[in-house]
Amino acid sequence: MNSYDVVIIGASASGLMCAVEAAKRGRRVVVLDHAVKAAKKIRISGGGKCNFSNYYVSVDNYLSQNPHFCKSALSRYQYFDFLALMAEYDIPWHERDHEQLFCDRSAMDIVDMLLAECHRYHADIILDCHIENIARISGDESFLLHTSQKSFTAESLVIATGGLSVPKMGATDFGLKVARQFELKLIPTRPGLVPFTHNKTQLKTLQCLSGIAVEAVVSLDSEEGAKSFRENLLFTHKGLSGPVILQISSYWHKGQRVEINLLPDLDLGYWLTQQQKEHPDSCLKTLLCRLLPRRLVEVFTQSVSIEKPVKQYNISGIESVSKLFSSWKYTPSGTEGYRVAEVTVGGLDTSELSSKTMQVRKVKGLYFIGEVVDVTGHLGGFNFQWAWASGFCAGQYV
Ligand SMILES: Cc1cc2nc3c(=O)[nH]c(=O)nc-3n(C[C@H](O)[C@H](O)[C@H](O)COP(=O)(O)OP(=O)(O)OC[C@H]3O[C@@H](n4cnc5c(N)ncnc54)[C@H](O)[C@@H]3O)c2cc1C
Repeated sequence: MNSYDVVIIGASASGLMCAVEAAKRGRRVVVLDHAVKAAKKIRISGGGKCNFSNYYVSVDNYLSQNPHFCKSALSRYQYFDFLALMAEYDIPWHERDHEQLFCDRSAMDIVDMLLAECHRYHADIILDCHIENIARISGDESFLLHTSQKSFTAESLVIATGGLSVPKMGATDFGLKVARQFELKLIPTRPGLVPFTHNKTQLKTLQCLSGIAVEAVVSLDSEEGAKSFRENLLFTHKGLSGPVILQISSYWHKGQRVEINLLPDLDLGYWLTQQQKEHPDSCLKTLLCRLLPRRLVEVFTQSVSIEKPVKQYNISGIESVSKLFSSWKYTPSGTEGYRVAEVTVGGLDTSELSSKTMQVRKVKGLYFIGEVVDVTGHLGGFNFQWAWASGFCAGQYV
């Protein structure tokens, strides 16, 4: 039997941050993970450069049934706190579009830093360790864990096992099962930051556009209100992807329609009426091909004739052609699912937790942090910032 003050399950972003903070306070900490390598998701994140945070983090960058829950943790551990930690390890970084912060060299810099911090403060990490069961010791308020390696007792138990996204990277529903064991409420889960897939008919017409990328605004009337994002959209051989699609996908529910403006910088109808005056003999198709890739123009105008000089179109003709590009109504058949989703929307209902400590209100000593909690960030470093912040806060109390 191994006795610790704190057992953390999940050796990745939130779990390692929590381990460091708790160990700094002199707590005896062990982190258990079933994977053979720690922090697999950090390793592959941000195309290998880890988008570890963002200069402008606000509650508006998160989805949650209680949008205010994440405020407290996010205000107590901010991007500059993480940058200060990186500075201690001389890790170079840079800012990209949308205030996103990335490593210059590799995501491994972050992994190595967190592992070095665990080592520095004597937090143990045990990998390839499969949790068999968790029980409460009667008469005592501590936890007893049986695992494939050893048994552990601890006063505090932290669940940092993340969401369901990318099972290949070790994701499981372990956190949700623990929540059920302790009769805690869950918010239904769904894949987020995930590409859309076409139905059969859409595939027939749109598959040939695979590889084309355009800047677009995508809008949706969601349960959380009207949402709109502007970034790159990519046509894939299965459906639609690119940052703008990943962002809106977190708000999307099966059956909902999104509206896509493929020319967000232009009032196409107005521009075409100007062309009628300035270049009346120009062919409508030629004009459209100045604005968008030819293949895209051809596919989107299959139902109308665009071969005539622009002067021959009346107002309603111009309007209907404009709408094809500026308010394309698209109903995804589905998403590519947890296999490729960057995050999981939903999870442990935040009403079960203290926003200050991340402790379960009705189970003393039990904590949930990171993605397993119903707090999901937009694309842009917000998910890691939530993992660091929630791990940091729990680390002060476990
Ligand atoms: C491809 C990809 C790229 C991403 N890029 C970014 C990015 O650049 N910026 C950003 O902010 N976010 C990014 N994310 C999201 C980010 O990785 C997660 O939100 C974040 O890692 C969540 O941290 P976590 O500690 O809660 O969970 P995780 O990082 O998922 O860690 C959970 C840990 O628990 C372990 N575990 C799971 N089940 C068990 C079990 N049954 N027993 C024992 N251990 C278990 C896992 O092995 C894992 O080590 C990306 C995600 C993916 C999939």
